[in-house]
Parts: sequence; C-alpha cells; structure tokens
Amino acid sequence: MRPAVFLDRDGVINRDTGYVGFIEECEILPGVVEACRRLAEAGFALVIVTNQSGIARQLYSETDFQTLTAWMKQQFLDGGVSLTDVYHCPHHPDFDGLDTRCDCRKPKPGMLLRGAREHHIDLSSSYLVGDRISDMQAGQAAGVKATLMVGELRHAHQEVDWKGEDLPAAVEWILKDSQKMAN
Ligand SMILES: [Zn+2]
Repeated sequence: MRPAVFLDRDGVINRDTGYVGFIEECEILPGVVEACRRLAEAGFALVIVTNQSGIARQLYSETDFQTLTAWMKQQFLDGGVSLTDVYHCPHHPDFDGLDTRCDCRKPKPGMLLRGAREHHIDLSSSYLVGDRISDMQAGQAAGVKATLMVGELRHAHQEVDWKGEDLPAAVEWILKDSQKMAN
C-alpha cells in the first residue's frame, strides 16, 4: 500500500477554459509537471480523477478524450514523471438520456475508490487537489487525509484542509505534511 495524490484535471493540471476536449485547447499550467515529479520521487502515486461531462454533452467523444489523455501522459513523461492512472466520468444526468446517477461523477467518490483498489493505494495517507467544492466532497467521501483547494473558487469555501493559488503551492504543503507524518 502506498499513498497517492489524486488530482483534478481542468483548473489544476491545465487551464480550465471550459470543456477542454482537444490537444490544441489544453494548456498545462506552469510548474505542474515539475511539481508532480517531486511527488512521484517522494513515493506518491499520481492519479487524475476528472469529470468529463463534455462527452455526455457530445462536445467531444470518448476517443477525443483518450487522444488528449495520451498526449498529456507524454507531456509528463517528457518531464520525467509517469502518471499512475487517469480516471474520467463521461456522464451527466441531464444528458445521458436516463434519469440514472452514476457513482463516478464527483462529488461521488467512485473514481478515487476504484483508483485505490486498482493501484493498492492507502486512502488514509493520500491527498486530493481540486478547484471545486465537488472535488473536496469526493475526497472527503473517499476518506483521504487532506483535501486541498486551488484556484479562484477557493475564496468561497471553508471546509478544506488547505487553500492556495495553484498545484505547485499545494505540492509544497503536501511534501511538508507527509514528512511530518513520517517523523
Ligand atoms: Zn460517471
């Protein structure tokens, strides 16, 4: 069992311009790859958990998503870090044509629980970084050690363990916090 850092994608890894479905729309934010490399070197699995209702809305396809994901993984590899896995929820209850609720769309914890199961991750020593309250709720429902909120919406919310500007700042806090635990 090892710890992970679960990462929301849009607004944390790349700039959130709304329904990012194609490589040419995807701008990886400054310092993100390097910050993730430091987490990997510290022994963390890196698991992206991303709501992609753009698929249910037919703004882009599952294949488009996979193409973008393959490109993103390569950007990380070029920076010396391997993403452990990428989980996405393609659903949206208003667009699926069925009044059913999946168990993967955040704030539900389904993607985190599946990641933990498939990669032998200890949730109680893991972290989640996101930019929306639904990310924080998913992390709390999964029982991670701490939820960290970045981006503009952080100013509106209280119930998080840490708030800051961006992923590189969050990673500084995670590395300190996890070291505290080891000592
Ligand atoms: Zn889903």
